[in-house]
Amino acid sequence: MGKSLYAGVDLGGTSMSAVIANSRGKVLGESDTATDKSSWRVTVDQVIEQIERAAKDAGIKPSKLEAIGVGAPGAADPKTGVVHRAPNLGWKDVPLGEILSEHFGVPIAIGNDVQVAIMGEHAFGAAEGHSRAVGIWVGTGVGGGLIVDGELDRGHRGAAGEIGHMVLDENGPECPCGRKGCAEAYSSRTSMERDVKALISSGKKSVIPALMKEKKKTRMTSSVMERALEADDAVMKQVLARAQHHLGLLAGNIVNLYDPEVIVIGGGVAARLGESFVAPIRETARTRFLKPDPKGKISITHATLGDYSGALGATVLAKKHA
Ligand SMILES: [Zn+2]
Repeated sequence: MGKSLYAGVDLGGTSMSAVIANSRGKVLGESDTATDKSSWRVTVDQVIEQIERAAKDAGIKPSKLEAIGVGAPGAADPKTGVVHRAPNLGWKDVPLGEILSEHFGVPIAIGNDVQVAIMGEHAFGAAEGHSRAVGIWVGTGVGGGLIVDGELDRGHRGAAGEIGHMVLDENGPECPCGRKGCAEAYSSRTSMERDVKALISSGKKSVIPALMKEKKKTRMTSSVMERALEADDAVMKQVLARAQHHLGLLAGNIVNLYDPEVIVIGGGVAARLGESFVAPIRETARTRFLKPDPKGKISITHATLGDYSGALGATVLAKKHA
């Protein structure tokens, strides 16, 4: 059992990483690179190269892998391995599973990046050993996933876990999904960046534009956010507090619906800020619990695998499909 090895790929719009791991989540080899989006085929070839490099790093031939799993940023069909929509990659109907299967000759499993990361946290991280868990992933958007009876639950049509589009105020800010007042419209990194810009345009002073320039970033990345907080930036603090408040309302709604053992908050922002990001979310959420929880039986915590949640989760997906 311990000898079975799996490859897992976390395919993101900015960067991608591959790991080789055993069934206990021990990483034996890894590789990562910036994502080249010049064409879908170029990106797919990069995925192949990263798997080969990680295998080399682990000292094995890719043909010895039991299976390969990939978490892709969009809607993937786990049966056909086709990635139907992945706007962050500019992909539409890319037969990723088929191409990888032809190249490597081993079973391939493709899933949604956020759901795969939650599988990783459930297998080896913050939700390990829990049968009822929920993941809230804060990044460009707000994604989510549901663990029911110890398994990722994809729902009746494969559409479950879209926690970011729970509506918190139907007259709230516009959401990329075309509706208004979804949790994502308040709490994604993109929404926080919009709010920062609005406060700066209204005359508030902030170190954020200078930090973005210094770091040569066109977006307000989690590292820029971290630096702004270290500098005690009032705009950053105000915007973050608003996002955290709405994530707290969201987490409270989830507890009232599903009463999970644990809510894991992950993604780039949570990975950077850790407990300081989660604490205010937990505090707000707990005020919304219909059934009080004086003994703290429900844990609201941050992901613990850091940059590995996605790639290790992809090895879990691979193992389930091998
Ligand atoms: Zn929405």
